[in-house]
Amino acid sequence: MAVVVTGAAGFLGRALVASLAADGIPVIAVDRRPLELTPGVSAVRADLLDRDPVVLAALAEADAVFHLAGRPGVRDAGPAADAARARDNVAATAAVLAAVPAGTPLVVTSSSSVYGGAAGRPSREGDPLRPRGGYARSKVAVESLCAARGGAVAVLRPFTVAGEGQRPDMALARWIAAVRAGRPIEILGSPGRTRDVTDVRDLVRAVRAAAERGITGPLNVGTGHPRTLADLAAAVCRALGAPAELVVRPAAAVEPAGTWADTARCRRRLGFVPRTDLDDLVTRQAAATPAGAEPVPALAAG
Ligand code: NAD
Repeated sequence: MAVVVTGAAGFLGRALVASLAADGIPVIAVDRRPLELTPGVSAVRADLLDRDPVVLAALAEADAVFHLAGRPGVRDAGPAADAARARDNVAATAAVLAAVPAGTPLVVTSSSSVYGGAAGRPSREGDPLRPRGGYARSKVAVESLCAARGGAVAVLRPFTVAGEGQRPDMALARWIAAVRAGRPIEILGSPGRTRDVTDVRDLVRAVRAAAERGITGPLNVGTGHPRTLADLAAAVCRALGAPAELVVRPAAAVEPAGTWADTARCRRRLGFVPRTDLDDLVTRQAAATPAGAEPVPALAAG
């Protein structure tokens, strides 16, 4: 028997597969993108909507399923982005929910974006959802599917994950590339905007704990300590030992001014709360990013 990880070629999927494999847990890694060869990991290259018999059998027989496949990217706009989200977030989750038996622990990645930002206090799992754009709306649809299916489905709401292998379209990855290239750091909105930044190691720990403990329903994965964009930019400069000019550009309406996780449920249900040492995190991410790696448009990733 084994566990299945979907989206295994992605930022979070790669980190989860590496952690499971390091602990000797047999993994079936599924992605439509090429997968790295890792000892103890069976790689299956397939699209979740293709009803691949190997994937369906793996999902039906797994000890646990981690559904991390999806189409991230809050800022992407237009019909192509909406279609991609409908397919890879909503329809792919429906396919996974249909293929996994109700008694199998299943962890699905939603997003903190379902809250539409923090309104002067940390966002709690029971708060009304106020999705601001197509990405967030697709995650609300994912959550509705999970709630309607029933069974042991943990719906994790990660808050901005960072660390080794971060997607090149995300802010810290873009800023690391910019400072290395001697370009300014581009901040959207204002330097005082905040993000609750989660260490990818804690995200992996939370995802694994959610399956081990058979968690059901929504769960924040964040630190409860938001950082300003100015703090994040300063951490990039410290990590690279180089100064950088900050350029402020207008933020789209889909960008919340701040995100902030309430961590009480995470502490209660998972027995720990993520804790981010920003300098360590950014230094690790920069060290793991090959020099010369350039950011790519979000729609090209995934
Ligand atoms: P990613 O783009 O790096 O990885 C997603 C992977 O899913 C890709 O490798 C892609 O090829 C695969 N995929 C997408 N659709 C597929 C399909 N139909 N069939 C097979 N494979 C498919 O993204 P990520 O940053 O690793 O995010 C993983 C999940 O977590 C996503 O659902 C994302 O929305 C969510 N999330 C991420 C963050 C974050 O900070 N990275 C925060 C909140 C939520």
